[in-house]
Amino acid sequence: MSSIPYRIYLQEKDMPKYWCNIRAKMKQLPDAMLHPGTMQPCVKEDLLPIFCEELVDQEMNTTDEFIEIPEEIQNFYKMYRPSPLVRAYCLEQELETPAQIYYKFEGNNTSGSHKLNSAAAQAYCAKKQGVTSLTTETGAGQWGSALAMACAYYGVDLSVYMVKVSSEQKPYRKILMETYGAKVILSPSSTTDSGKKILAKTPDTGGSLGCAISEAIEAAIKTDNCKYVLGSVLNHVLLHQSIIGMETKAACDMYGIYPDIIVGCAGGGSNLGGLIAPFITEKIQGKNNIEIIAVEPASCPSFTRGKYAYDFGDTGQTTPLMKMYTLGSGFMPSPNHAGGLRYHGMNPILSKLYHDGYLQAESYIQNDVFQAAQTFLKCEGILPAPESTHAIKGAIEQALKCKETGEKKTIIFGLTGTGYFDMAAYNSFNSGDMTDYIPGDQDLQKGFDTLPKM
Ligand SMILES: *Cc1c(COP(=O)(O)O)cnc(C)c1O
Repeated sequence: MSSIPYRIYLQEKDMPKYWCNIRAKMKQLPDAMLHPGTMQPCVKEDLLPIFCEELVDQEMNTTDEFIEIPEEIQNFYKMYRPSPLVRAYCLEQELETPAQIYYKFEGNNTSGSHKLNSAAAQAYCAKKQGVTSLTTETGAGQWGSALAMACAYYGVDLSVYMVKVSSEQKPYRKILMETYGAKVILSPSSTTDSGKKILAKTPDTGGSLGCAISEAIEAAIKTDNCKYVLGSVLNHVLLHQSIIGMETKAACDMYGIYPDIIVGCAGGGSNLGGLIAPFITEKIQGKNNIEIIAVEPASCPSFTRGKYAYDFGDTGQTTPLMKMYTLGSGFMPSPNHAGGLRYHGMNPILSKLYHDGYLQAESYIQNDVFQAAQTFLKCEGILPAPESTHAIKGAIEQALKCKETGEKKTIIFGLTGTGYFDMAAYNSFNSGDMTDYIPGDQDLQKGFDTLPKM
């Protein structure tokens, strides 16, 4: 075996002190966010009623490539970071591939995913601004858990609107959030006007992320000294997640590892955007030619079958409009287990990069993805989150291609989290009754029909 250790951990002194802002290096910037009333580009003042000021500044920053991580956040990160870059020696052997496979593992914290990287930053900004409570939505529950941890640490109250179908699939996520002191409301709920509206139209709905977002925003606006925070999609969330890429790059530089391919799962795009940040800025400048692959569920194919269009972030159509790959804010994904990847849209930076050919996308069905999870957990020992498993599947496919061609490519993928709260999904896979749902063109058209006419 080579001299590269199984697990590469940075020393504390080598931990990145900066986030990486991809937009500073893009040849063409993503189209501006639009105010839903005026349809004009949003200015800072438009966003301040909803979001914390420092986060709005980050959202709008298109010029600074590196943004210093406040020391208080660096200290929070030290509780559970650096995360290891792991050489998947055993998976390589199992696949009999000449490829070298690495994964960046973000599951080493109680919330169980990368989401804590942004939760910490957002709770800190709220506290610093004197905001006393936050609202948010959670789908699969990882974001709500992460934010509950961060809010407990910084002393900020939190209300989480949790997608109803997810709470039924993952009751222990709700208990975890409550144990950290958060209030959890199942969405759609009758506590907001947007929730009531959806319940009146579709009383049996299991809810969706877009709907929970509408409720959380409404609650934030109607509550004193309260702001809304979001766990993915927005540019500042992607910025916070660039800690993943900055650590990965530092580890690669230390050991002379040059990735040929980087694979990540794509829900709202923040973990993939964060993982690739310092690599894609170099790719844009012609300094590398890394192939970047986004993997999404076939049941919610925003990149592979979505439209590049201005759309709302929520079902209630209240948020600013973003130009992104989207299935339409009215798209209702089937209640299967793709959990955190069930969002209709995709981060605008990644959308633009995809549109301009800097990254590719693939989609896989649930059963194939869980098959990959099982291969992985047997040889690498980690029980992956169902979302992360999409990246595993994507990486395995690339490694198998190398086996055919004999190419010794270096593949890095993002292992975003662990699946301990997802045993119901594993159970349905094990017992053979996991369903696969691929929306037909007509199903997708229903979502596209909800796109705003520009
Ligand atoms: C939320 C989540 C994702 C999706 O992340 P995005 O950054 O929104 O693409 C992937 N994996 C895990 C474990 C998650 O919790």
